[in-house]
Amino acid sequence: MSSKLAQRAQKLFIQYLRENNLKVTQERLALLDEIFATDEHLDADDLLARMKAKQRKVSRATVYRTLDLLVQCGLVRKSRLGREHYFYEKMEPGGGHHHMVCTATGKIIEFWDADLDERLRRLCQEHKFRPTFISIQIQGLSEEGQKVEQDTSFF
Ligand SMILES: [Zn+2]
Repeated sequence: MSSKLAQRAQKLFIQYLRENNLKVTQERLALLDEIFATDEHLDADDLLARMKAKQRKVSRATVYRTLDLLVQCGLVRKSRLGREHYFYEKMEPGGGHHHMVCTATGKIIEFWDADLDERLRRLCQEHKFRPTFISIQIQGLSEEGQKVEQDTSFF
């Protein structure tokens, strides 16, 4: 069973595809479902592996093309998260958040702070800048990552 949010996302995605004269395919809808079924940050390979595990045949090209479309219609958020490639996660209403990325373990911590948000908006105002999307990424070492670094720095 997909959540209310996933159902609404599917409705919007179908509408978007039709408006742009693109085909509504089972592969595209399955990829959307997969992203909305998890709170994780997935890359294209993760998605390919998840589809394969469900015996759903989807090509790499379809995964990339669909991810682009999902980002374009505002249903999916794309971030670098400290790597050379991108990660994707569902957009949630009022779900704006920032990321701490552990460079040792790849762990991603999401955070949000109302005071920080307010301060950033005021900063933008001071520069007569109208923000459309605010995203902060802090790279460093998580608790586990600090242990890993300690273990390896011995050599
Ligand atoms: Zn996130």
